[in-house]
Amino acid sequence: MNIHEYQAKAVLKEFGAPLAKGKPAFTPEEAEAAAEEIGGSLWVVKSQIHAGGRGKGKFKEKEAGEKGGVRLARSVAEVQTFASEMLGRTLVTAQTGPAGKQVNRLYIEEGATIARELYLSALVDRAASRVAFVLSTEGGVNIEEVAHKTPEKIHTLSIDPATGVMPHHGRLAAAALELDGDLAKQAGKLIAQLYAAFLAKDMALLEINPLIVTGEGALRVLDAKVSFDDNALHRHPEIAALRDETEEDAKEIEASKHDLNYVALDGSIGCMVNGAGLAMATMDIIKLYGESPANFLDVGGGASKDKVTAAFKIITADPNVKGILINIFGGIMRCDVIAEGVIAAVREVGLKVPLVVRLEGTNVELGKKILRESKLDVIPADDLDDAAQKIVKSVQARRS
Ligand code: GDP
Ligand code: MG
Repeated sequence: MNIHEYQAKAVLKEFGAPLAKGKPAFTPEEAEAAAEEIGGSLWVVKSQIHAGGRGKGKFKEKEAGEKGGVRLARSVAEVQTFASEMLGRTLVTAQTGPAGKQVNRLYIEEGATIARELYLSALVDRAASRVAFVLSTEGGVNIEEVAHKTPEKIHTLSIDPATGVMPHHGRLAAAALELDGDLAKQAGKLIAQLYAAFLAKDMALLEINPLIVTGEGALRVLDAKVSFDDNALHRHPEIAALRDETEEDAKEIEASKHDLNYVALDGSIGCMVNGAGLAMATMDIIKLYGESPANFLDVGGGASKDKVTAAFKIITADPNVKGILINIFGGIMRCDVIAEGVIAAVREVGLKVPLVVRLEGTNVELGKKILRESKLDVIPADDLDDAAQKIVKSVQARRS
């Protein structure tokens, strides 16, 4: 699960990380009040969306002005102006895709003078079974590009879980970031704070880009992106409460309500499959025959008729879906139950695209009979190969 920058900063603050004063705002009036309260003479008005690259992003609407999604304001009035330009508008960044994301929240922060922009992140290094830090002197920019063009500028530091962060880790981090004197001490302290936060909150990723050295010679977390391990969310109700469903794919939210494993993709063939392995194989074979899957969907081992209906509705609600392939192996799940679910769903939502159904396993003959007798426009298939070819052919025939 992802959270907004301002929420991530609040979490890091609990662990003592160095942060500027800031307040979230949902209206221009709140933004103005936040700026008054923060005080000073420089503020940053930051769009809160679950995507990076906001500074260099562009708004779709001309009312939002020419500036990007992160703006420096030199008066309270300017904070208010920027807030009213940005709120409700659609920000397109390198990470949002062309559709962009609507800005519904802002974070108003005390502005900093920046002497240096550094990069610092923490992640789970699965190969080493450790939390590792990635550090670079080249912060504030596209880190993937730095890694590609100048890999020698990326340093990693992995922490032995038995010892935790030790003084030498701090020295290594400071060296990697080319910090000395008091700044080196601050770096050591920050690494320990971030490591504690990462473990305590079951984070999956923590990225600070940039970590800055201020004009006053202090380290400060200027941007923060945090995502959490979904499997550990039940241990952190205070984190789960930060979920912002407006940032997520509506189809994925609906799927999670029905306990379906669903991931939206950008192809044309909607898939309903049971078992993650079979779902992967189905996606592969669709590709093999020249089309792409519109989603990954695993209805699970013990899906009920209701679950199948819900899954079918989610697939058909996607306008990119030009054909549907249902591929079920009835092990725990019986083929007749699937057939009834499919029929119920088709009767309820209608069928505007070709539908191929391949059933195998328990009660397969009964399942096929139910489908046949339903008189619905279902194309039966005998095996996975046959099914994939049939759906790809039907979709391509309609397109030409
Ligand atoms: P991102 O574009 O989504 O990664 O958003 P960031 O929070 O990283 O902000 C983008 C850029 O805005 C930073 O790299 C800085 O150059 C600039 N910026 C953000 N906050 C401040 C600030 O307090 N002072 C100054 N001078 N620049 C800032
Ligand atoms: Mg950033």
